[in-house]
Amino acid sequence: MSTPALIIEAHGRHYTARTAGGDLLHARPRGKKSECVVGDAVQIEVTGPGEAVIEQVAERRNLLMRAEEHREKRFAANLDVLAYVVATEPPVSDELLMRAVAAARAAEIEVWLIIGKRDLPGGADLMQRMKWHAPSFARQFSLSASTGDGVAQLATALKGKRTVLAGQSGMGKSSLLNRLVPGVELAVGEISVALAAGKHTTTSTRLINLPGGGEIIDSPGFQAFGIAHLSSTEIERAFPEFEQYAPNCRYYNCRHLDEPACAVRSAADAGAIAAQRYAVFRKLATAVS
Ligand code: GDP
Ligand code: ZN
Repeated sequence: MSTPALIIEAHGRHYTARTAGGDLLHARPRGKKSECVVGDAVQIEVTGPGEAVIEQVAERRNLLMRAEEHREKRFAANLDVLAYVVATEPPVSDELLMRAVAAARAAEIEVWLIIGKRDLPGGADLMQRMKWHAPSFARQFSLSASTGDGVAQLATALKGKRTVLAGQSGMGKSSLLNRLVPGVELAVGEISVALAAGKHTTTSTRLINLPGGGEIIDSPGFQAFGIAHLSSTEIERAFPEFEQYAPNCRYYNCRHLDEPACAVRSAADAGAIAAQRYAVFRKLATAVS
């Protein structure tokens, strides 16, 4: 008998599937076609106590990829929001940040910025940088996982949404998750029981229910989103402040790289577009074309 379930943990080809009744099952794909990601709605066939086979994956609303050394892998599906965490320490990589934005916007996932470690002094450089990047984000939050300041506002915004928590390592994502879901490490341990194989040498991606409503997808250690499958137009969409200049480019299909009379490049030269934004655009657009 086939049962609907949600994939809430992925670890290689091992998955944890959660049924509507809340049962957790260790699930394996039947074949290549039933390989799936966290966030997938699936049909499973229970094969034994705590064991199931994934028969079918429902059509996805959207899908994010992760960049691996030589190729991209599917990462998570059916998402509402990508929340990108930055802080004063470690230094922010504009490239990693804009890869995340480009991947999410191309998949029509809303992108939020979370400025963390608000309790720490300094941050003038971070604030300047985030001012440049502001056009890429639909919403911004400022908080401290250490003191808990600002966490409630974020929790309210997360209600009813499925959100991927992303950012460079060291920015405070796991500390924030612990604030949002007290005892999350215990809860996660419980989920992992379903992973009978129990090989936890590499990180897993997991979906966690928030106490106030909503779901967070967390993938410790993961930082680089895959953009190789995007077009340069999709990269451009991650930089909405370019839009007002692009119609003045000489060529209607200008890619804003080395084309003559490019109004976007001129705007960057004149300082109307932040030079750092144009530089990271060039880097990403060149990488995909
Ligand atoms: P992750 O790699 O993004 O999951 O980051 P962690 O949550 O592991 O945090 C990295 C480091 O930053 C740890 O030493 C945390 O204690 C510290 N940290 C996290 N959040 C805050 C915060 O709000 N304020 C301060 N001062 N330190 C923080
Ligand atoms: Zn142009």
